[in-house]
Amino acid sequence: MDADLLRRYLEFYQDLGVTILYRQPRSAPAAVAHTPIPEVPMADPLPSLAPANDSLFQILEDIGDCRRCRLHEGRSKIVFGVGDERSPLVFVGEGPGADEDAQGIPFVGRAGQLLTQMIEGTSQKEGIPLRREDVYICNVVKCRPPGNRTPEPDEMEICGQFLYRQLSTIRPKAICALGGTAARALTGHKEGVTKMRGRWFQWKDLPVMVTYHPSYLLRPYNQSAKREAWEDLKKLLHFVYD
Ligand code: URA
Repeated sequence: MDADLLRRYLEFYQDLGVTILYRQPRSAPAAVAHTPIPEVPMADPLPSLAPANDSLFQILEDIGDCRRCRLHEGRSKIVFGVGDERSPLVFVGEGPGADEDAQGIPFVGRAGQLLTQMIEGTSQKEGIPLRREDVYICNVVKCRPPGNRTPEPDEMEICGQFLYRQLSTIRPKAICALGGTAARALTGHKEGVTKMRGRWFQWKDLPVMVTYHPSYLLRPYNQSAKREAWEDLKKLLHFVYD
């Protein structure tokens, strides 16, 4: 492990006032006995989507100065994720906007402020002591799509490997998909968010609650959706923290 990169990573977030709890990588699981079938030529094993002993630090290191898709062309900063990597709750948005691109931190613009209110306001009302920094927040794509357009399928697929590894490393008790893009990317379902919200789906073996994206709730004509999003969050928070 590159101790210097780890130090810079921790200092970067410390400068932003964000505490990163760095966890030592877990020990590798015991190897499984494997008997090759003699008549069948063995293909090279496919590389694992989530390497053994993975960690958020390792994922960040592997992302590097990513140029794997066209989104790198217009980005200022890669927006990896923020919060407590041991959290039982992970929020997944669509992709960074202008403020996130400038700061390198997810959900720091107007939608982010609303998300913070939603997390902290709902938990306070429900008697669950929870701060934004107690959860983990990330996006399907780590670079800002130009003009805040929806990420293209190939961009989500390329960047999805890192989301896969983040979720596999954190292994929260539940995931909250914010908006239709995150919901479809995580669950594979093709319905619109109004049909999916408030329901449980799965990412691998982990439960996924779908709710509206905070940007959608900021639009004045979507005020009734706010009540529904609060209901969704209540359900989610009680599932995770009761
Ligand atoms: N919208 C998102 O989906 N993610 C962010 O980080 C900010 C806005």
